[in-house]
Amino acid sequence: MPVSIHIPTPLRPFTEKLDVVQANGATVGEVLQDLTTRYAGLKQHLYAPDGRLRSFVNIYVGDDDIRYLQKEQTPVQDGQTLSIIPSVAGGAGAATEALPALTADEVKRYSRHLILSEVGMEGQRKLKAAKVLCIGAGGLGSPVAMYLAAAGVGTIGIVDFDTVDVSNLQRQILHGTSDVGRSKLASARDTLKDLNPHVNVITHEVALSSANALDLFRGYDVIVDGTDNFPTRYLVNDACVLLGIPNAYGSIFRFEGQASVFATKDGPCYRCLYPEPPPPGLVPSCAEAGVLGILPGLIGTIQATETVKIILGMGQTLAGRFLIYDAMKMRFRELTLRKDPECPVCGTNPTVTALIDYDQFCGIVPAQAAPPAPVLTDAMADVSVLEFKAMRDAGTAPLLIDVREPHEYDICRIEGSVLIPLGDLPARVGELDPTVELVMQCRSGVRSGKAAAFLRERGFRSVHNLTGGILAWIDQVDPSQPKY
Ligand SMILES: [Zn+2]
Repeated sequence: MPVSIHIPTPLRPFTEKLDVVQANGATVGEVLQDLTTRYAGLKQHLYAPDGRLRSFVNIYVGDDDIRYLQKEQTPVQDGQTLSIIPSVAGGAGAATEALPALTADEVKRYSRHLILSEVGMEGQRKLKAAKVLCIGAGGLGSPVAMYLAAAGVGTIGIVDFDTVDVSNLQRQILHGTSDVGRSKLASARDTLKDLNPHVNVITHEVALSSANALDLFRGYDVIVDGTDNFPTRYLVNDACVLLGIPNAYGSIFRFEGQASVFATKDGPCYRCLYPEPPPPGLVPSCAEAGVLGILPGLIGTIQATETVKIILGMGQTLAGRFLIYDAMKMRFRELTLRKDPECPVCGTNPTVTALIDYDQFCGIVPAQAAPPAPVLTDAMADVSVLEFKAMRDAGTAPLLIDVREPHEYDICRIEGSVLIPLGDLPARVGELDPTVELVMQCRSGVRSGKAAAFLRERGFRSVHNLTGGILAWIDQVDPSQPKY
């Protein structure tokens, strides 16, 4: 008595449309051999040219995956049932018949994909059917959206509400010099449409929030996290876990990048790795710490690669692995990531079952809740550069602490300032007298604001922040110095 083999819909064209066929053999390998002899058209779909079973084809004997038995050597008995289960894309799982057809133009455009057996016509149609949402049209979002558009991902959504600034162009290759001042979404749409007019670009000109994230994400197959701040990163993670949408994650900082895939069916999430964010203030953003312009190109390209693999259900994604890239050493390291049963969002007993206030979670006070601007007589009041100049001229200026990096200090500085980079401040706080009045200064006032808050928390009696930093000083007091 032969073995019955269940044929999945996409492969039925090769079995004369039969959903169950019979074949003989003592092992899974022999049965499949017999099957592909009877139905020769099946062979290339089940086996790679080197004769191995394709990685995206799973074979089950009864309810058991042969990968956990003896693979192709798994014995089979007469009357048993074998099932061929091709892996499906990112939860979409559309049958081949439901996939959109390719036009003649598209066939030409994607010919280098079509001749890859791992992509082929079916894979390219899966890409066309796929919907990917990029969070941000910045450094990471640029290569992600451009490569996904070029690859033929049919629908690309982008969430952003920023405008293009000239300082973006060092890394955000979606935008050009002529786009400065335009909305990033308009600029991104033009670039992507020029790259591939077959792609449907959906722009979401909103700030992503707990109120809109679930509605925005729903219907997308993969979310690509290209955010640069902790509240949004946790928001994206939690929304992906709650909706069961994989998250192709990437982040960049100075010369280092990270990438992984979170929130797959059985894989870990960002919170399995970092249940809680670092305290606010001590991890500077790219705007404050800088980033090598090429770095997002590399990390974003990894995110795009993972996205395409998820859609095609091929290869091994970074799910369960955390990739760390060091551009200075040109070195990749990989950590194993495990799904944490105690994870507050994807664990066995999750405590986060709906989106929360992520600004509060990350210790960031929302702007509207900030205290009113203190008056100058307040020991903690901000100081304008003109006020500071007047105090200096009068010989009453407090000690000025510059919290920028030494290479920034080399470009321009306020005479008499003491350099203590923000990152060194916790270690060097003992050098400062908490009873002495201080003015904190950086490039634009952001890092010095964090430094001031840090010192106030440690009991410093009078700490002011210099509004607008050295840039304001150069604008209003000393235009002879270079700005950067
Ligand atoms: Zn988790």
